[in-house]
Order: sequence, then C-alpha cells, then structure tokens
Amino acid sequence: MNTSEWADKNYYADLGVSSSASHDDIKRAYRKLARDNHPDKNPGDKKAEERFKRAAEAYDVVGDETKRKEYDQLKAMLASGGPRGFRSSQNINVEDLFGGGFSQDGSLGDIFGGLFNRGGRAPQPSRGADVEADITLDFREAAKGTTIPLQLTGDAPCGSCHGSGSASGHPTRCPKCNGTGFLSESRGAFGFSQPCDECHGTGSVVTDPCIDCQGTGTVHKQRNIRVRIPAGVVDGQKVRLAGQGEAGPNGKPSGDLFVTVHVTPDKIFTREGNDLHVTVPVSFTELALGGTITVPTLGQPVRVKVPAGTPNGRTLRVRGRGVEKGSSKGDLLVTVDVKVPTTLDANATSALRAYAQAEKDSGFDPRAGWNGSE
Ligand SMILES: [Zn+2]
Ligand SMILES: [Zn+2]
Repeated sequence: MNTSEWADKNYYADLGVSSSASHDDIKRAYRKLARDNHPDKNPGDKKAEERFKRAAEAYDVVGDETKRKEYDQLKAMLASGGPRGFRSSQNINVEDLFGGGFSQDGSLGDIFGGLFNRGGRAPQPSRGADVEADITLDFREAAKGTTIPLQLTGDAPCGSCHGSGSASGHPTRCPKCNGTGFLSESRGAFGFSQPCDECHGTGSVVTDPCIDCQGTGTVHKQRNIRVRIPAGVVDGQKVRLAGQGEAGPNGKPSGDLFVTVHVTPDKIFTREGNDLHVTVPVSFTELALGGTITVPTLGQPVRVKVPAGTPNGRTLRVRGRGVEKGSSKGDLLVTVDVKVPTTLDANATSALRAYAQAEKDSGFDPRAGWNGSE
C-alpha cells in the first residue's frame, strides 16, 4: 500500500481501538476481529468479509512499529491543517509544525500556511447536512395534502452504536480541552484561541470507535421515509421537514430535508390562492330558465343554483368549498360556459324554430345597442 493512501484510512477505528492503544491491545483487537469475522465462519456475510479485510489491512500497518510511526506522522500532519485538513485523534503542538518533514514539497509556505490556518480549520459539523429532494404531486393531492413515501440515500445514524460512534455508546470527555471544545495558547506575539483539534470542538472524544461506522456515528445508506405534505402547497413551493436530513456525526442533530413540490395541472380545476376555479359547461336553456347544476369539488360534489337569465361566462361563488389550508377555507368559483348542440333531432329543431319566433315576438334583440347604434 502506498502511504499516500493512508490519508483516507482510519486504521485504529477499523480495529476498534484508540490511537494511543498499546501494541498488545492492537494485536488482541485484531485477533478477535479476524476470528469473529473470518469468511469460513461467516459464509456469504459481506459485512463480515469487509470487516475482516479492513482489520487485516489495518493490522498490517499499525501492527508494525515502523509503519505505525509513519502512519501516525502522516495523520498528524494532515490534522495540523495540512493539504487535506484531515480529521485525526493526534495531538499537535506548534513545535511539531516547525519540526520539519511535514510539508510534502518542503516549501516554507506550506509550513506557515499550516500554522496560520490552524485556527480556521473547520470544526466538525454540529449537525447533519441538509438534504434537497423533488416530488411531483397531482393537483388534488397538493390541494388536499398528502403523505408520500420518499427514498433517500445519505448519512443515517449507525445502527450498531446508535449514532454515538462509540462501541460502548459512551463517548468520553475530551482530555485535551477538558470538555470545553476550545484551546488557547500563545507563542511569542501570537495568541490562539481555536477549536480543540482533539475533539474538533465537540468536547468529547470516542476512545472505543464503533467498527461499523469507524467512530463517525453515521453510515451511508438508503432510507425510506414518509413525508407529510401539508394541504395547499403550490407548484414550486419548498417544504421544510426539520430533522429529516442526514444524520449528524456522533449523535448530533440531523439536518433538515427540503422538498420542492411540483404540481401537475388538473383537468378541470385551477387555483388562485385558496380559491378553486372550475368552468362548467351548460346549455342555453339552463341559463335562460335557471336551474340547479351539479359541480365537482375536491370532496363531495355540490349543487349550485343558477338564477334564470344568467349570462354566459358569469362566475358563481360557492363559499367555503375551495382549498382548505389550516383553518382558512377558500371558495369555489364556478364559471358557466354555454355549449351549442352541433346536431338537433326533428323534435328539438321544430321546438327551437317555434322558440325563435316567440323570442322575436317578445321583443328580445340580442344585438340591441351592441355596436353603439340605437
Ligand atoms: Zn457505529
Ligand atoms: Zn477537545
């Protein structure tokens, strides 16, 4: 193994020991892991096989005094705010930074960069990452509210250690900062107050890392959740679901889930705020004579009274039958739209002819005053 690949490894965690463990402790931990997870003993168990391999790789390095020293040095350099800003459980002090051998290309700039960047190194996040997701609802689901299943892949609490990162479930108080999470030190003209590099500003450390999550408390996996979308969301709206994002490290609070809701149009309804609009086809006689029409809503249909002589295109308001959002209820706005029959049977034709004559006799002129002339 190339030593540059060590940066991404966490060998002590792979063996479930602290970085200050003795050689005998490391050996014991390795033997137990190798025995418990041996492929012969766990046929077909991928998880056991993975643990077995990781333990073997880890023991090959930290079980060897020389390689362990090199590994510790590399980790310490990275933890000091070196090129990759890596997490480590090693203690660093300013003297170490000037001790030489830390800068990969040997340039002075890197050494000073490392020194002055130390205070600015990002502390371990205090909560899990926020997650964004998109869902598409049909118009009626969005108006009435719904619960939908959502499949997310990301950091979730580790089941083995219940998110604590500690095999025993009990992280211990950080000895370096006494649990405060901060360190102050001065060197000549410089004074530093910075997040503790031992515990990343959290005030506690894991001395018995959980094997399955390498002490992070989180594992990358798929989770299925059910998301409650409140009534009355509109297309493009973002719904925030607190605590449904990725799990926080070592038992810290989860991030939030932001769901962007897309709403597909409905065949008959449109919305304006909480008011629901619908255009209902009617016949000329229904408007002229008046009557009652049945109109669909998001729930039970309603009967709407059309007064005699209602003009085509008029909108009738039915109170409280629109979108229900919390305690407020919108109205249903019903617009009437006359449909003219394209064919008429003999009966209807003769009846309409008789009506046309009667209409004329009654003095009704549809175009009276229409173009401004008398
Ligand atoms: Zn775990
Ligand atoms: Zn600390």
